[in-house]
Amino acid sequence: MTQQQADIVIVGGGMAGLACASAMAACGLQIVVLDKTIPQGPDSWGEAFDPRVSAITRASENILKHCGAWEFIQSQRIAEYSAMDVWDADGTGNVQFHAEEAAVDYLGHIVENRVTQYGLYLACLQHDNVQVLAVGMSELSQEGAGWLIELDNGEQLRPSLVVGADGANSQVREQAGLETREWDYDHNAIVTTVTTEKPHGNVARQPFLTTGPLGFLPLRANSADKKSNISSIVWSAEGERAEELMAMDEAEFNRALGFAMEGRLGSILTSDRRFSFPLRQRHAIDYVADGLALVADAAHTLHPLAGQGINMGFLDVAVLAEQVCSSVAKGLSPGEPMALRRYQRRRKGHNLLMMSTMEGFKRLFGAEPMPVRLLRNTGMKILNGHRLAKGHILKHAMGLSGELPDAAKPGLIADF
Ligand SMILES: Cc1cc2nc3c(=O)[nH]c(=O)nc-3n(C[C@H](O)[C@H](O)[C@H](O)COP(=O)(O)OP(=O)(O)OC[C@H]3O[C@@H](n4cnc5c(N)ncnc54)[C@H](O)[C@@H]3O)c2cc1C
Repeated sequence: MTQQQADIVIVGGGMAGLACASAMAACGLQIVVLDKTIPQGPDSWGEAFDPRVSAITRASENILKHCGAWEFIQSQRIAEYSAMDVWDADGTGNVQFHAEEAAVDYLGHIVENRVTQYGLYLACLQHDNVQVLAVGMSELSQEGAGWLIELDNGEQLRPSLVVGADGANSQVREQAGLETREWDYDHNAIVTTVTTEKPHGNVARQPFLTTGPLGFLPLRANSADKKSNISSIVWSAEGERAEELMAMDEAEFNRALGFAMEGRLGSILTSDRRFSFPLRQRHAIDYVADGLALVADAAHTLHPLAGQGINMGFLDVAVLAEQVCSSVAKGLSPGEPMALRRYQRRRKGHNLLMMSTMEGFKRLFGAEPMPVRLLRNTGMKILNGHRLAKGHILKHAMGLSGELPDAAKPGLIADF
């Protein structure tokens, strides 16, 4: 491979990196995606669900369609959710959001991460100007006015644009000297797949426990499974509690989970192996430098309570691709500084707003003092009867708020 073959190098072939490559392919430049491994397809997956799933919003669905990945994703066992039920397990607050209130059939889909990633990989393979290489970046350094990328196999690349899509502990971010504001949530997210006595009815559920939020995301075994009782759970808990939950045997864990859910889905019949992820909020102070941009988790990570991480990432990708393709169409470099700054301007405010709103939710629901709890629970009751306010929140939940890139535009979704 020579430097001429890589105008744009995307470091990281996760969901964001592959989406970025397929969204930028239209600009006709040579794009290289680097990752240590190439995504594996369904033949290697087995029956068990991927413990990592994401709630994919309507805006992300539009972006995935635009990237050419949705057809594959839709052919897999993805599950629509048409309502969200949120309650305060400590008090009496409860609010439900239904797709009908937003005049839509569904609010989004729960998709296994490996399905989204593989769909995006297949989309990349459709473009002659995109190469996905099974090799990592070992070092990034500045060379004159540009960037030198050294690969694990000893080769070097000198692209006009480097995209850091290398996740939360981004080496691109660190080696480019882009600083972050960050702090620990002191929470771990425990994820697994469970079966419940009662079907979930395509409802995403989230009780806010005193120890942290618990998300139940509906899954289904196949497209014919209309009364599925399979859910993916994300149980966020403070350090000690998280350790306790991880140490329990299956029967003990199932009982604790059923209790935390107040039996709303009956007993928990089975639960798969559990995985625990430490949670940390991070936000890069700058998303861009000369000839370099960060997207998705490399630029920001937040608490998974609202399921917005990769949805924010897909919006980053769509906006960056829009800006880069517009520079290239004008005969400019893909790393044109004004365009990268415009990308940062368009995404940073939106991401900060989402992160601060989620932080507010987390603090509000973590609050112990009685007056705060009373106010919160009264607020939930009022909100539950307020169609206009709920419509506004639903719009956010579907990713359809704020200034959207063309690829995310809702198309068939009526304004409400
Ligand atoms: C428990 C939990 C639940 C979540 N639920 C949701 C949800 O419901 N909805 C939602 O939107 N988000 C959710 N998220 C967030 C979401 O999972 C992340 O935002 C998303 O996975 C980030 O994707 P990414 O491609 O940016 O990063 P990653 O998935 O971390 O991918 C980064 C890639 O970069 C590669 N890489 C790293 N270093 C190098 C290098 N030096 N050279 C080459 N490659 C490199 C890695 O191998 C990896 O493949 C959740 C997160 C957690 C922890």
